[in-house]
Amino acid sequence: MRLELRSVTAGYDSAAPAVRDASLALDPGEAVGLLGPSGCGKSTLARVAALLHRPEAGTVLFDGTPVTGWRHRAPRALRTAVGVVFQQPRLSADPRLTLADLIAEPLRATGRRDGIPDRLGDLVPLVGLTPDLLPRRPHEVSDGQLQRACLARALVLGPRLLICDEMTAMLDASTTAALVGAVESYRATSGATLLAVGHDPVLLHRWCDRVVPWTGVTAPAR
Ligand code: ADP
Repeated sequence: MRLELRSVTAGYDSAAPAVRDASLALDPGEAVGLLGPSGCGKSTLARVAALLHRPEAGTVLFDGTPVTGWRHRAPRALRTAVGVVFQQPRLSADPRLTLADLIAEPLRATGRRDGIPDRLGDLVPLVGLTPDLLPRRPHEVSDGQLQRACLARALVLGPRLLICDEMTAMLDASTTAALVGAVESYRATSGATLLAVGHDPVLLHRWCDRVVPWTGVTAPAR
């Protein structure tokens, strides 16, 4: 899927916009790293691209078609075409769900219960989880194990665009390598586009086809 952000301005109520006039385009199947220091607005822009945060101005286009609704107003076909993984799995995972239910929840929500065993069978080994972890709840697993489940959940509907927002910032080197490897295996078979947001130039250059510094995305504030 092609993703294009044109002159996006976005922020939070009273404060000055976190993102000002930002533009970025990803070709179908391309892996692009968005590199910048903490606080520069990368997550805000990632959330706009993931249809989770409505911009104040600008246009987001998927395959050339402008997006008109965010959050619950986003069309279901678009919401299911985009997978997102955030930095902190404990903030994005419902603590009451087992890992199996967490991963399968998007299938249940879209009426595809029948596909659950097959998808779990594919994704659990892909992200490096083992079946014995699936009945556990988030407080019974490590951050790395929970992030593996969050990645599986982001992949469960077969997204054509994957957005990883500091996905490995809290994790050790071997878990980071495993998660990046799982994303790349998924992309090799699906042709999905990747936007990887982060602050680590070594990781992003190793992972992505192209790395865009934040200064190349947004005009400095005047
Ligand atoms: P980055 O991902 O580059 O660290 P963010 O997009 O998270 O940057 O943050 C950009 C700016 O927006 C920061 O100044 C931050 O304090 C502010 N911000 C982020 N989230 C919120 C929020 N929910 N409410 C108010 N301000 C926020």
